[in-house]
Amino acid sequence: MAGAGAGQRKAPTNEDGAIEDLVKARLRKLLPLSKGDQLERGGIVHRNEKTGALGHVEGAPGSEDDLAIGFTKDPCGRYVTPNRGCPPGTKPVAFYHTHGRDDSKRAEGARRAGPAGFSDEDLRIATEEQLVAFVALDDGRWLRFTPVEVPVVAGMMECTVAGVTETVPFRAQHAFDTDGQPFWQKGKTVPMNGNLLG
Ligand SMILES: [Zn+2]
Repeated sequence: MAGAGAGQRKAPTNEDGAIEDLVKARLRKLLPLSKGDQLERGGIVHRNEKTGALGHVEGAPGSEDDLAIGFTKDPCGRYVTPNRGCPPGTKPVAFYHTHGRDDSKRAEGARRAGPAGFSDEDLRIATEEQLVAFVALDDGRWLRFTPVEVPVVAGMMECTVAGVTETVPFRAQHAFDTDGQPFWQKGKTVPMNGNLLG
């Protein structure tokens, strides 16, 4: 019988638990690869809007600066890959990536200054994309970040690229709450149960 052991799910609902299980399984596969070649890896979890089935897509490995997960936008603010790289009829619900790099293998100046947790950039992306984020650390710990809901202004705008003007949808988020605090700093990071390398 399942008790309060190390393998217990953290997420309270069935769907969140299923996302957590999927992400954990993927990160367990990806983290050792990242520790081997020092490249980050990641992907997006999506949900089929009719059946509710979960799936995932992953891109090529990359460095911490150029790992591309599907959030890349063109100069008009449109995603370069439709639906953030997820299949038609699905909705992205979470994303995950590894921070598997072993700083001891790097030259002194190239080592991380801070802890190996989420970077500020990770938290900004999760908040902008309004997706739950997971990260795997080099020692096998993993974390979840849940962004706060951010008010959005949406409409249409004209955008000119290389002399061609198009009318495109825009979606702008408020950056700060009424107290002047950036929304991306208001989300919650929690440690997840179990060790990915165990
Ligand atoms: Zn990161």
